[in-house]
Amino acid sequence: ESIYSIQNVSRRYGSLAALDDVSLDIRRGEWISIVGPSGSGKSTLMNIMGCMDSPTEGTVLLEGDRLDKMGEPELANVRRNKIGLVFQQFHLVQHLNAVENVELAQYYHSMPDSQEALDALERVGMKDRATHLPRELSGGEQQRVCVARALINHPDVILADEPTGNLDEVNERIVIDFFHQLHDGGTTLIVVTHDAEVAAQGERQIILEHGRIAREVIGVDGTPTK
Ligand code: ADP
Ligand code: ADP
Repeated sequence: ESIYSIQNVSRRYGSLAALDDVSLDIRRGEWISIVGPSGSGKSTLMNIMGCMDSPTEGTVLLEGDRLDKMGEPELANVRRNKIGLVFQQFHLVQHLNAVENVELAQYYHSMPDSQEALDALERVGMKDRATHLPRELSGGEQQRVCVARALINHPDVILADEPTGNLDEVNERIVIDFFHQLHDGGTTLIVVTHDAEVAAQGERQIILEHGRIAREVIGVDGTPTK
């Protein structure tokens, strides 16, 4: 069963096609890596799947719902209820501490629950930093707070754009191990990365070039499928 069904999607800016006739089906529970050179359309594809942008052509279904037909209020609802986002730039609220940042994500979804927020921080090894402000945390620690925030509402899908881009090896390992836990628990993971080792964690690698899917690779042995 597909969680995402993307059919003939283009995203044009004037004469430039950031995405050019892309079709892609993603199975529920699949771990997909999206790779490709800078400017190949990775972020554009993530933004469309993450309900932060809409295609100019084509259809995008998430769990059977037409994202390409939705306006901003509906997209915001899908974002809050179904999707967890992890970005390279952390987007933490600077005047809220770690646990408050996680609770803020809960607030947009349901009622904040401090115990649940603390449990999420514990799962990423950040419980003892719960009352620290973002500026009191290292880059790796801030990213781990972002991961806790992304999964606090038990999203069906996690979209991560260069989640290990700013991290040292230790924090990269923590985030990857955590993604494996989520994957084992049935969460769909879609990860944009430049890091070959991170990309190889996925069951399938989608290689974008010039806004098109140039090829797909399955498994760590790199068997081309297309
Ligand atoms: P990637 O994430 O692979 O680096 P992007 O999806 O960010 O690539 O960008 C794909 C192409 O679309 C690039 O040529 C980029 O300059 C262009 N692009 C992205 N966003 C915009 C925008 N808001 N306005 C105009 N062009 C854009
Ligand atoms: P890194 O060099 O790994 O980026 P930092 O030198 O920024 O890390 O921080 C090292 C540790 O000190 C981190 O665990 C961070 O939480 C803590 N820390 C940094 N600044 C502050 C601060 N102003 N108040 C409290 N703890 C801090």
